[in-house]
Amino acid sequence: MTDYQKPIPAIQPWTREFWNATKQGKLLIQKCQDCHSMIFFPKKVCPECWSDNLCWQEASGKAQVYTYTTQMDMVEPKFRADLPYVIAMVDLEEGIRMTTRIVNCNPEDVTIGMNVHVVFEDISPECSLPMFQPADETLRRLPPCIDECESLATRSGSPVSPDTYETIIYDIGGKNGAVCTITLNRPSKYNAINYRMAAELIDAFRRVRDESSVGVVVLTGAGEKAFCTGGDLEIFPSLCEHKSSLNWLSHEGLDVQRAISGCEKVVICKINGHCLAGGLELALSCDLIYARESAMMGATEINMGLLPGWGGTARLPRSMPIFRAREIIFSGRKDYPAKDMYDMGLLTRVFKDDEFEEQVETVVKNIASKKPEALRMGKEIMARSVDGCDIETALSVERNGIQWLTYAPDVQKMMEGFRQKPSDLLARQKETNLRSDNK
Ligand SMILES: [Zn+2]
Repeated sequence: MTDYQKPIPAIQPWTREFWNATKQGKLLIQKCQDCHSMIFFPKKVCPECWSDNLCWQEASGKAQVYTYTTQMDMVEPKFRADLPYVIAMVDLEEGIRMTTRIVNCNPEDVTIGMNVHVVFEDISPECSLPMFQPADETLRRLPPCIDECESLATRSGSPVSPDTYETIIYDIGGKNGAVCTITLNRPSKYNAINYRMAAELIDAFRRVRDESSVGVVVLTGAGEKAFCTGGDLEIFPSLCEHKSSLNWLSHEGLDVQRAISGCEKVVICKINGHCLAGGLELALSCDLIYARESAMMGATEINMGLLPGWGGTARLPRSMPIFRAREIIFSGRKDYPAKDMYDMGLLTRVFKDDEFEEQVETVVKNIASKKPEALRMGKEIMARSVDGCDIETALSVERNGIQWLTYAPDVQKMMEGFRQKPSDLLARQKETNLRSDNK
């Protein structure tokens, strides 16, 4: 009970009786002695006539499902272990409609009008939560035991931190520690992603967010054969079960994408070899993508009757003209040369193999020399602008963001400098322009 991590109801003087009853497996409702209204959730006064002459009555606990929805994704992390789960409104026999959860059954078996009975989940010494299970015992099923829904930490093995990373390398370098390089480090497996690598990537990108010296993150692959060829074959058997495949998509997949795309630093993807399936999706979560001329790319999921599920099907058409994105996803080709991907509008740039390291380093150095706050703000404004908010909203985010940048002491000092004589001003302007020209 003490390990219950989800929110616990705050008990008020006028709800204490209700919660005390839940501990004894009873569902109480209130009745107004004056206008005879039934009241739920407990209140101080009757919402119909404002009388405080209320009494308690025990409900039978029998109800019918009025409506419901199945939560598959998009929940607070603390609720994730419960996915998928059913949130429902049920009508009690006594005429009360309450919001609750339908438990102890397959979400697919829930129907509107289904008869349900109250059950209580013990969550704290003060209260138990009323939920409902099918009245029909043949539909009941106990929740999976802990072994079945093992956590990400369990699936990925030992604790995850830079000291214990097994599948990636986390290295902070560059001038004043402004560049963090995260290297996918399973070169003998073409840097394929397994549970461990997913957990380490999530950890690394969350960690780098708080590294104040770092302005730019470079994501690349070890060795010369591959950047990343997607999910490791070793994970596929584990995806046969509904819950595990959902976990792989919504826990590992979504968390990796969010950790990268939501990183407040500029993330540069450096594609040094084959970049396929999940590897392409990692690249799509980054801010800039540079590739070696010899790199081969593609989305191969459809060859297995699937589609890119780590953001690729959604992000590819947002990253290039949709008629080209469709070809990449529908063809399943794994041999798009980097140059073709560039021509199709996907990549930032392609460099010749023998110039690749040097050219990317020049870009990284240049961007890393810029003010981190300006980079962060630029990333945010551009993301808002392309991610579907209307132009007026995007312009207002831009105005506010840039005004915020303007008030930084160093920028104020520079502005103040422009009070000087016009000739000085000209010299300064020249100097500022020159500075921004150097690549
Ligand atoms: Zn009343």
